[in-house]
Amino acid sequence: MASLLTLEEAQERVLARAQPLPAELVPIAQANGRVAAEDARAVVDLPPFASSAMDGFAVRAAGVSAALRIAGESAAGRPFEGRLDAGSCVAISTGAVVPEDADAVVPVEDVVVHDNTVEIPADVRSGSNVRPRGGDVAAGEVVVPAGASLNPARLAAAAAAGIGALRCARRPMVTVLATGSELVLPGESLRPGEIYEANGFMLAAALTTAGADVRVEPSVADDEGALRESLERALATDVLVTSGGVSVGEHDLVRAVERELGVEEVFWRVAIKPGKPVSFGAREGVLVFGLPGNPVSALVGCELFVKPALRALQGLADALPRFERGELMTPLRRNGDRDEFVRARAHLADDALMLEPVIGQESHMIVRSSAADALVHVPRGNGELHAGSSVRWLRLGVGC
Ligand code: AMP
Ligand code: MG
Repeated sequence: MASLLTLEEAQERVLARAQPLPAELVPIAQANGRVAAEDARAVVDLPPFASSAMDGFAVRAAGVSAALRIAGESAAGRPFEGRLDAGSCVAISTGAVVPEDADAVVPVEDVVVHDNTVEIPADVRSGSNVRPRGGDVAAGEVVVPAGASLNPARLAAAAAAGIGALRCARRPMVTVLATGSELVLPGESLRPGEIYEANGFMLAAALTTAGADVRVEPSVADDEGALRESLERALATDVLVTSGGVSVGEHDLVRAVERELGVEEVFWRVAIKPGKPVSFGAREGVLVFGLPGNPVSALVGCELFVKPALRALQGLADALPRFERGELMTPLRRNGDRDEFVRARAHLADDALMLEPVIGQESHMIVRSSAADALVHVPRGNGELHAGSSVRWLRLGVGC
């Protein structure tokens, strides 16, 4: 067998074609899961003023006396406006402004309150329970770096620092097209030789979760004319993902028709299992993935090639699949020529992440695979991975 393209080479070729899409301004209320296209900087110091970390009494630490007069109150959003001297203090709430003349807050739990005086413990440290202005971030500093994805904590950070909108790469538009004359939608009845279409639903779900705007085209038969028409329409997109018809059978016409339509093929066939016949090409900036029809092959191809491309189009700093480490529970034979991706269940046992391959590893067995939450990477090579080996694995069903 002519030597196949390795997974690493194939992924490199995909990422070389997947440049970030143009950026647009996105209000933070709509930015969940989007990727910052440029550094977003704090508009204000955070906290914007020295504020109290506790409910209690703001005092001057130096020479504090046992009994202080309560001169007023500083509540959240309503600062104390008077002055403070060594003999007085201000009742203060968490998050309220620490008056200019004070430098410490004594928690309410540590004092005895009388009518309008408080008994204060003797040793108060300057700065205690005071959150300094700018202690989290200073105005002008980077809050969200370019290439970071906007998760809930980053959205909160942006909001807290006064950033109301961020520039993010436009969401990629992805068109999904299942090919195969045997495909029928679930809910209809099957005639001899027909099967239910599954890949379109899987790919639409996976790619929506990965941040794409997905359009699913009606499936198309293995017929040149029909394919030409469907593919031409489907190519009006950022990314086209087809399933089926890229293998070596007489009815596998997708690549030939794409070529006629001006798609430049970048690669076909990669040294992986399942998913070897995967194809990738481009037409005027539109990325074109041809995933094999077996649903498990399509799933693996989607994880290894399409999702990384979507991350790169969205400008994520780290576009390659994110492997984690775990311990294999049962031995796995290695494949001499191809990197294998074995579907497995991930269990936590005494804080160790254990991977148990599911029974039924053939590439048509989507029901068996659907019980898996992990793809275990079995590197090409001789011999086997023993039970207990440390392996790389990819979590299934996660977003970008
Ligand atoms: P192909 O890659 O077209 O040779 O298809 C390989 C296998 O996957 C065949 O058994 C097909 O019937 C099956 N298959 C193709 N497309 C789909 C699909 N969209 N949903 C479920 N199975 C499919
Ligand atoms: Mg087919």
